[in-house]
Amino acid sequence: MNRVALITGGSRGIGRGIALELSKIGMDVVINYASNEAAAQETAASCMAAAATVGNQIRVEICKGDISSANHRIGLVEFTRKEFDRLDLLVNNAGITSIGRADVLDATEENFDRLMAINLKGPYFLTQQAAKWMIDQTAKKAPSGTSSKSSREALPYRPKIVTISSVSAYAVSTNRGDYCMAKAALGMLTKIYATRLAECGINVYEICPGVIASDMTAPVKEKYDRLIAEGMTPIARWGTPEDVGKAVVAIAQDFLPFSTGEVINVDGGFHLRRL
Ligand code: NAP
Repeated sequence: MNRVALITGGSRGIGRGIALELSKIGMDVVINYASNEAAAQETAASCMAAAATVGNQIRVEICKGDISSANHRIGLVEFTRKEFDRLDLLVNNAGITSIGRADVLDATEENFDRLMAINLKGPYFLTQQAAKWMIDQTAKKAPSGTSSKSSREALPYRPKIVTISSVSAYAVSTNRGDYCMAKAALGMLTKIYATRLAECGINVYEICPGVIASDMTAPVKEKYDRLIAEGMTPIARWGTPEDVGKAVVAIAQDFLPFSTGEVINVDGGFHLRRL
């Protein structure tokens, strides 16, 4: 039995990159998506192929659900429980950019509420739900040192939670105020859950990507091409979903066992202040 990851917004972009990298290390994956079923199916097929190339047999399932909806979040976790009966890794990745990218003086409450529901409320409460199930699974695990006939029990249970924030958590964009505020709050979400869940054996991390090539950044490609060429990042290239996926793999592999509440920057060095 493989370990199981649930990735919100796994159908495209960064979420797809994370799904592919986790598939390569032999994890089963639940790919959540909002509406683009074709993209989710494509990602699932790519995951199966990626796993097969390194000799891993995995299962991948797709699950439609809007993470801003409480009922959909419950459905997503129940789907994972029904299909896999196990959750080792939650990746809070799904998110939208600021609707209309309006100047902060023109921003509307309606758009603010929609973004906050997806980018902040969704991960906050999905993490709560997943964490409770993880705690429950930890309690049911056979005590160490006892033998178990179940292959499930043979696999060490070290659950983890990762949230994808952004350099926008600290870099101001006056036409994406809601997005920046939600991303800043995800940093505190990580610290709160890391503190609360440490005693439960659950490590919690924030991954802070810089400029990553995806559908989200496609409309502003020329702007970022120019900024990168002008030296915006010490590593002078666009980031890729694979770059973020590799950071998630490091966490999933338990390579950071004594670190929790940690921020992992995947940004080509964007966060470095320079003189
Ligand atoms: P993307 O290409 O636009 O993909 C967004 C993904 O989120 C899709 O899988 C989409 O599903 C899903 N999604 C959107 N709204 C959802 C909802 N309400 N419920 C469930 N799933 C939903 O975006 P991305 O660039 O990969 O970004 C992924 C995450 O990384 C976001 O949180 C974003 O803020 C963050 N990030 C991105 C960058 C960047 O440069 N791209 C940088 C820093 C942080 P469908 O396919 O069904 O639409």
